[in-house]
Amino acid sequence: MFRRILVANRGEIAVRLVRACRDLGVSPVAVYSTADREALHVRLADRAFHIGDSAATDSYLKIDRLIDAARKGGCDAIHPGYGFLAENAEFAGACDGAGLVFIGPGPEAMELMGNKVAARRAVSRVGVPTVPGSEQPVESTDQALDAARRIGFPVLVKASAGGGGKGMRVVDGESALAEALSIASAEAASAFADPAVYLEKYLERPRHIEVQVLGDAHNNLVHLGERECSIQRRHQKLVEECPSPLVDARLRAELGEAALAVARAAGYRNAGTVEFLVDSAGGGETPRYYFLEMNTRLQVEHPVTELVTGLDLACWQIRIAAGERLSFDQADVEWRGSAIECRVYAEDPNLGFLPSPGPICGLIEPSGPGVRNDSGVYEGFVIPVEYDPLISKTIAHGRDRLEAISRLHRAFGEYRILGVKTTIPLFLRLLVHPAFREGRLHTGFLAEHALTESPDQGDRQGEALAVAVAALEELNGRGTAADARNSVRRNRSAWKESARRHWL
Ligand code: ADP
Repeated sequence: MFRRILVANRGEIAVRLVRACRDLGVSPVAVYSTADREALHVRLADRAFHIGDSAATDSYLKIDRLIDAARKGGCDAIHPGYGFLAENAEFAGACDGAGLVFIGPGPEAMELMGNKVAARRAVSRVGVPTVPGSEQPVESTDQALDAARRIGFPVLVKASAGGGGKGMRVVDGESALAEALSIASAEAASAFADPAVYLEKYLERPRHIEVQVLGDAHNNLVHLGERECSIQRRHQKLVEECPSPLVDARLRAELGEAALAVARAAGYRNAGTVEFLVDSAGGGETPRYYFLEMNTRLQVEHPVTELVTGLDLACWQIRIAAGERLSFDQADVEWRGSAIECRVYAEDPNLGFLPSPGPICGLIEPSGPGVRNDSGVYEGFVIPVEYDPLISKTIAHGRDRLEAISRLHRAFGEYRILGVKTTIPLFLRLLVHPAFREGRLHTGFLAEHALTESPDQGDRQGEALAVAVAALEELNGRGTAADARNSVRRNRSAWKESARRHWL
């Protein structure tokens, strides 16, 4: 086993990985940018190194500074988490070159799966169906028109190097194609430094279902069943669950085999996820599935699989990277009950998910039977504007799906986050929605059921919020993060009094 691991990330995933290190008796070493000086992961790690200014390009994306921090910290391995450099083959290669173990798959598998066009080709070769589309990036409007006519409208223009729902445009007819190509390509060039785009058939109301795989360096490879992630905003996941209400044992085995074939084709080891779109529009028919992409890292939504299989995926990633063998095989994998995760973002769901960074003036986190809250914040922490505003992932596990839903609803009834807008009000509406409870999911669910449009929320946090706002007004728009924290501290007693009266 490793002695020290550099956690090359921030936020809730860095906290999760610090904990995994501790569980394995490994010393966790953190890194932080200027904005994250007082972040939770820094406080929980044994040592922490400042790696640069707040912008991710000056800190968490700087390969040389991360390697340098690992050296200074006496680390023998680096865990990239998710996002930032997690799927960057150059980073994996640089770790290798510096004699540090990169906790993840080999650079070749990352490179192959990082390019959606190449991945689709490799996957087709092993007989796994892909969404109908162009075999190559499209290089001109004429080429795209040919491909679109063959595929049939509507089509989706997608970035070959895409991720996070960026560089994607739906096109309904020929006249809109040229403009969509140039917008998607420009977006791809700026987000991924690669303007290549290709076309896929745009499936209407599909379900997003993905399969977790885990492989060691000794040719053992298993799948851990599926997660359904159909509740999305802007093609980004918001709610994930295991198992999928759509998938029966036969479809699970079929998707599992397909995922293993994809992983084998990539020579895959460590934890990875093979994503599919499932077209269940045919009603009673067996649903058809299509390979979407493979993510060569730990996913945000990994906890639902952990709760249902009883396997600690973060720990297994580390153990596999240290050369351990999987201690179980496919026949040993069991799925118990049901787990659902909601991503709590500092965003306003009633304002198009507008980010709502800022200080957390008050915080009461949920717990109790079947509830897990993977959080990256604490009371007084200021959510920086520079990064993804994920606050925590609230996950509930139950004997069955309805018990998990009911526990999650109870958890959100308890959860109090004061000072920033969050996605919690949306989850409170979603979890009681009949179509959600019946498992009738698809990727356009939130829009179809108008769940992001604000009803009167009867804002019971209103008065407490007003106290927090009063505290922040002291800053008069000129405060730094430290001023904000001090202001909150000064006003805490007023806030606590208000919280007592109005929250509990
Ligand atoms: P990214 O890598 O940016 O996350 P993905 O290819 O994984 O992109 O797709 C993300 C989401 O976009 C999917 O879960 C789905 O909602 C939507 N999507 C992607 N491809 C299609 C398609 N061909 N038809 C319909 N929806 C799609």
